[in-house]
Amino acid sequence: MSTGPEDGLPDLRARLAAYEGRVAASAGVGKDPVNEPMIRHWCEAMGDTSPAYRGPDAVAPPTMLQAWTMGGLSGHTDRSEAYDELLALLDGAGYTSVVATDCEQEYLRPLRPGDPITFDAVIEAVSERKTTTLGTGYFVTTRMDVRTRGELAGTHRFRILKYAPRSRANRPNPPTPRTESSAAAPARRPRPVVNRDNAGFWEGVAAHRLLIQRCTACAVLRFPWLPGCHACGSQEWDTVPAGGAGTVYSYVVMHHPPFPAFDPPYAVGLVELAEGVRIVSNVIGVPYDKVRIGMPVRLEFLRVDAELELPVFRATAEGEG
Ligand code: ZN
Repeated sequence: MSTGPEDGLPDLRARLAAYEGRVAASAGVGKDPVNEPMIRHWCEAMGDTSPAYRGPDAVAPPTMLQAWTMGGLSGHTDRSEAYDELLALLDGAGYTSVVATDCEQEYLRPLRPGDPITFDAVIEAVSERKTTTLGTGYFVTTRMDVRTRGELAGTHRFRILKYAPRSRANRPNPPTPRTESSAAAPARRPRPVVNRDNAGFWEGVAAHRLLIQRCTACAVLRFPWLPGCHACGSQEWDTVPAGGAGTVYSYVVMHHPPFPAFDPPYAVGLVELAEGVRIVSNVIGVPYDKVRIGMPVRLEFLRVDAELELPVFRATAEGEG
């Protein structure tokens, strides 16, 4: 949905449109030519064992197109200012959040080890103002042309949404730039999306039971809840309540980006239940930097606010629980 005259910034749309066609990166040079080690790492990460990417006649996986242009941690020094200006303009108008929405690639010539890489990028399009489930904002599309030895090897279109998060976008007034003084009441934790496929899980949580789906055809347990069995395809199922014992199978510590209602750093755990399925949850009762793989944990239910209760896992001493 797009709206008419701009939200209190009548010339914003025109100012944004003026960036269409401007250079986002010019005469970029790949930091390394196409090379076998990067191809090998990529294939390992993707689990791609195709012989086309190995040996003396190897080509690079086409989807690596953008990888050859990336600047790494230190970045590219020859970056154009237009793209940064455009993002700053949107930030200043209150569209402070960003999410990558999609990319499209077109392959015109295979790349092989030894091919040097050059690239140019242009700001191809800035959309009308759109309202999405995330919030209201503008889609910005850049197109990168990747070349080698004077030939176009492929194009990479990358689209982001710069938006004002929904709570602010829903205000009748235009979104305003975030400032220190606009920090208001603490944000609420996100609500779960409850649908007919997972409603039973949340009914269980409300009754302080963590319910695992069990296929009635082949007895395989599954979590999170899904309509069908991944092992046999049956759509018939019942549930078994988790006993509550588990271990930390893996975890990450979130530092960035910050999300409203969460106070980084904090640990997000992937907990393996004694029944064998895994659940993403909070590990509580231990500092974020003391969470460890293999740590025993026990299920609890945390009341977050009047409407929200969540299963969480408390670290327990070894042998307990
Ligand atoms: Zn099954």
